[in-house]
Amino acid sequence: MYLKLRSLSLLYFSIGGEGLGVDLGFRFFRDDLCNYCGLCFERCPVLQLSLEAAKWDIKALVRGDTDSSLAFQRCTTCNTCDLICPVQANPYELILERWNEEHQLKGLPAIARFVFPTEPGNIWASIRVLMEEDELSLLHSWRENMNNPNKVMLLTGFYTNLMPYIAMTSLIGELKPAIAGFEGLWGCAGDTYKLGMIGASEEIGNMLRKKFSEMGIEKMYCFMGAEAMMLSDVLPNRFGIDFSFCNPEPLDYWILDKLNSGEIEVKRKLNMKVAVHDNCLSKYMGGRLQEVTRETMEHIGCEVVEMQHNRDLALCCGWGATIPTLHGSTSGNPLRTLLYLLDSLYRRLQEMEATGARVVVVSCHACYIFLSLIKVLTNSKVDIYLSQELVQMAAGEIPLHRNEKRAWDIVAAFTDVLFRWLFIPRERKRFSLKSIKMEPILQLSPADAKRIRFFGKIYHSVVIQNPAMRGLISITVKGLINLYRSSLARKKRKLISSRMK
Ligand code: SF4
Ligand code: SF4
Repeated sequence: MYLKLRSLSLLYFSIGGEGLGVDLGFRFFRDDLCNYCGLCFERCPVLQLSLEAAKWDIKALVRGDTDSSLAFQRCTTCNTCDLICPVQANPYELILERWNEEHQLKGLPAIARFVFPTEPGNIWASIRVLMEEDELSLLHSWRENMNNPNKVMLLTGFYTNLMPYIAMTSLIGELKPAIAGFEGLWGCAGDTYKLGMIGASEEIGNMLRKKFSEMGIEKMYCFMGAEAMMLSDVLPNRFGIDFSFCNPEPLDYWILDKLNSGEIEVKRKLNMKVAVHDNCLSKYMGGRLQEVTRETMEHIGCEVVEMQHNRDLALCCGWGATIPTLHGSTSGNPLRTLLYLLDSLYRRLQEMEATGARVVVVSCHACYIFLSLIKVLTNSKVDIYLSQELVQMAAGEIPLHRNEKRAWDIVAAFTDVLFRWLFIPRERKRFSLKSIKMEPILQLSPADAKRIRFFGKIYHSVVIQNPAMRGLISITVKGLINLYRSSLARKKRKLISSRMK
């Protein structure tokens, strides 16, 4: 029945239906171009399939047989296969389309509420109850600034709002009064697009274009480079939503310009080895953000060392690994989400550790926070920095660098997600996102806030923050990841051998 519905929905799309506010026939996966060569999934750094298995997988995905497709079940949304495909058929978008069809039919599992600002128990409201006063007042001022816009704007990102402390720097000088943004801008549709929520992404894009043009913005810098890519590449090229009137660019470009012009003075060269983590969206716009990050590092005296997977082939930090766990027959189990997340984060961290660098530089705030999470859980010696923070150091400032504190806050918030899923049955119900609104985040109930404060207190207390317990946590997390990896490998072998029957 499910497959039948899926085929009907495919037919609907192929004749140009508009029920979801999208026309998938010509803008996304190009089945008219695909020749089933299999290169996309063979070279995918996550799936690691033989060419034969990869050909099988793409065919399964095209005919809608998602139970047989490893890409459907394990894609971490890194966007690499689109760059590999020799005929630009957009295989990554085919996965998004299949996820989209599943949402239409079944809704989303309860755990997905965590990343929707209008849903109860969302990550922003959860972290806010653990945030310092100085950060809370910044969030308030950024929201107020939406009503007093400048022609030049520095847009806060979805995940910037989880760590407002990064704006406490003199580095951004004249841009400081122009900082504005809040979670109701939906991260420029970055998360909904990765989730395969195609209609919602289009809705957000149109809402933002209207808002930014009403605000009279003529130049927009984005704290999160990834969001600049949504505004300058994904939304215009996939949905035809044009943001050229405000020429969005990552803040990283502005910082490099100021370094080159001498307006940001390098007071001391850092003389350190750094590994660069290229985020999924840095692969858009010809990969310019990747080059800007490297150039910035060299300018401040860092030696850049490369990871096994970098630039177009870079692995997702791991955050994207939560997405396939929201789909398919076992979707919605937070333990599965947690394990696949930890496995993917740790895989990236291991590549970082293998470079010998003690510092990893990132330009995406989601990567920053989630790589910091695996760092604290595994007691890694590698530290995670935003490129902006290293420039602050070179300019003579000491960045606040509260990333470890925030990582433990995330652990507390996720503990609450697990608690609710285990002990409150109504919290396991699937849901559908009713509408996209430009509204403040939905605050926590007093009971939820109390529980998260309680978990936060425990994780920040000496009970956890002592060498013996941190060591024990690290051994346990690595042990769980290894067990989970073996189980993933077994399931992959089983899936592939079942195709031969
Ligand atoms: S999407 Fe591109 S790379 Fe993948 S099978 Fe089709 S033609 Fe080959
Ligand atoms: S988007 Fe990345 S993880 Fe997903 S199938 Fe393509 S290459 Fe693999």
